Amino acid sequence: MKTPRTLKMNDGKEIPQLGYGVWQVANDKAAQVVQHAIKTGYRSIDTAAIYQNEEGVGRALAESGVPREEIFITTKLWNSDQGADQALRAIETSLNKLKLADVNLYLIHWPAPHREQYLPSWKALIKIREQGLARSVGVSNFAVAHLQRLIDETGIVPAVNQIELHPWFQQRELRAFHARHGILTESWSPLAQGKMFGNKVLEGIARAHGKSPAQVIIRWHLQSGLVVIPKSETPARIEENFDVFDFELSAAEMAAIDGLDDPKGRIGPNPETATF
Ligand code: NAD
Repeated sequence: MKTPRTLKMNDGKEIPQLGYGVWQVANDKAAQVVQHAIKTGYRSIDTAAIYQNEEGVGRALAESGVPREEIFITTKLWNSDQGADQALRAIETSLNKLKLADVNLYLIHWPAPHREQYLPSWKALIKIREQGLARSVGVSNFAVAHLQRLIDETGIVPAVNQIELHPWFQQRELRAFHARHGILTESWSPLAQGKMFGNKVLEGIARAHGKSPAQVIIRWHLQSGLVVIPKSETPARIEENFDVFDFELSAAEMAAIDGLDDPKGRIGPNPETATF
């Protein structure tokens, strides 16, 4: 199977299938690691206002010399900035820090249902897209009920839902909803934050291909049709995580990894009950 390098979103725009995530990267280190990622070949960077490193990411983009049109930038609206007017101000702040005229993708970071602001926020994101400040808009950590409400109330389907997804927590039901509605699934903590590398199934498959468990997991995301944004601050691992286009998992290997799904495999907060 030839791995596509980009996937088409429901608004007709393309997103690189493999990107680089920068959660927990300090602002003063972001420029350096993002530069390394771009030099390695990554063309998609995933940041967020709450990561407090948009400035460093922006510096890396400016210094990289890669034309803006070749780079895909995602940032996210933080929970306390949700709301019709606040969201419009928040994107301006993010763009100023990134030193960009627009981002490729702007996401509502969490539904934060206790705030009761995700619907007005979604309407604001639709406006933000119309104003040309974001080329595509989507959400993150939305459950089926939250997505259904956005669709019912606005008729505009998010381009992407970025959710926790790795072999231990495969989110099959939510992915089936995405597939029915043309929403791309983007996997966060795709490597389960490194907690799965000792797994025997993954180790065995890795050995068979002369690859690392991290590379096997990334390959599983790609062959599953997911957008994937692994993170590392170590130059050799940034390169390793991009070196995944010269091998292919067999149907049996894919099925073996599919079999690792665990109802208790969630690592991060549950978006339906989180109160931040
Ligand atoms: P991840 O699953 O990508 O794991 C990252 C960790 O795995 C690294 O810190 C390192 O310890 C290890 N690692 C990475 N590559 C390795 C390799 N080749 N060999 C050995 N160890 C390796 O975890 P993540 O950072 O939580 O998720 C990736 C990105 O997803 C984030 O940077 C962020 O952009 C995004 N994210 C989004 C949300 C959200 O709410 N939308 C939440 C969490 C993360």
